[in-house]
Amino acid sequence: MITIQEVSKVYSLESGDFFALKNNSIHINKGDFVAIMGPSGSGKSTLLQLIGGLDQPSSGNLIVDGVQLNNLTENERTLFRRTKVGFVFQNYQLLPMMTVAENIALSLSANKAPKDEIHSRVKQLLKDVKLEGKETQFPSQLSGGQQQRVAIARALAMKPRLILADEPTGNLDQKNGEDILQLLSKLNKEEQITVVMVTHDQQAAAAADRIIVIRDGEIVNDRKRGVMGHESMASSLA
Ligand code: ADP
Ligand code: MG
Repeated sequence: MITIQEVSKVYSLESGDFFALKNNSIHINKGDFVAIMGPSGSGKSTLLQLIGGLDQPSSGNLIVDGVQLNNLTENERTLFRRTKVGFVFQNYQLLPMMTVAENIALSLSANKAPKDEIHSRVKQLLKDVKLEGKETQFPSQLSGGQQQRVAIARALAMKPRLILADEPTGNLDQKNGEDILQLLSKLNKEEQITVVMVTHDQQAAAAADRIIVIRDGEIVNDRKRGVMGHESMASSLA
């Protein structure tokens, strides 16, 4: 689903070049649930933004869901983001002047889907995230957990095979955080949607089956959860 080859991101500062990401290579398979962990400022969000086509690398290659991101025009990049990736952010990033239904329908409307199709899709999505009947409410009328569920519904609108979530539980209390993780896990397990989630919460990372750790722009650890157990079991049985 994702191939990252020798990707660096450099910012030119007065003090000189600053490497937010240093020559990283990773492969993420279809259907994986990956957590990206690391201290604040280590490059987690930068990496997620590159994968999602929100930003471009200084060097290296990214291939996401069959799309080679380096050579895209601005229009192609917009289309890639709209159709191939669902984004979920810590602060939800819903548009406050739009209703729940309008927020969820943003990319559908941008893609000029017919009105009745948008209506039935929004209704289904609200059901999927357990917010039936909230169509005409505004984001400010919802709790944080509900707003994040709207954000997830919006992310799913174009049926992307990949969800990129940057600290999706960061603003939520324990219970709401668990609900969001459960929803992401369900989408991963039942619909085989690939999930890449930035988090610095160990408990949130436990929802993932692979944990990639970044420090100072470099991947310093990459381990599979669960599968490791099977491997060691297999070797102890051999
Ligand atoms: P994280 O998400 O792990 O907290 P980020 O990916 O947001 O870290 O940032 C990584 C590093 O890159 C930080 O040191 C940050 O200050 C720096 N950085 C991010 N964006 C810019 C920018 N536009 N200009 C200069 N430095 C930046
Ligand atoms: Mg960040």
